[in-house]
Amino acid sequence: MGSSPKRPRSQRPRLPESSSSQKAAKYAWNGGLTGTSKQAGNLPVVEVCTTDGCGAPSSGPAPRAAMVQVHGAGSDAAAHWYCHGRCAAIAAARADLRTGGHRQAGRS
Ligand SMILES: [Zn+2]
Repeated sequence: MGSSPKRPRSQRPRLPESSSSQKAAKYAWNGGLTGTSKQAGNLPVVEVCTTDGCGAPSSGPAPRAAMVQVHGAGSDAAAHWYCHGRCAAIAAARADLRTGGHRQAGRS
């Protein structure tokens, strides 16, 4: 007596989103998009840069004038050219992730 069996989560009642104002709120929240969303697992974490020479090994001169050299994680890791700003920041953050933020000196 008094011990009601716990229902699994899927069987718990849900409030239906049936009213027009609920639908309008959901529509506004999704930015006007309807239907099923993209599979998050297939999306890259960082959009790949399509600029020519971005990510190229910096054995030679800069492929473009506005590119900066970012050194890799280790002292012997190769440096690469990246676009100034976002791409260089992402590359530096990746190097920081490999070393725990203790990068070798020598970053330009
Ligand atoms: Zn880039």
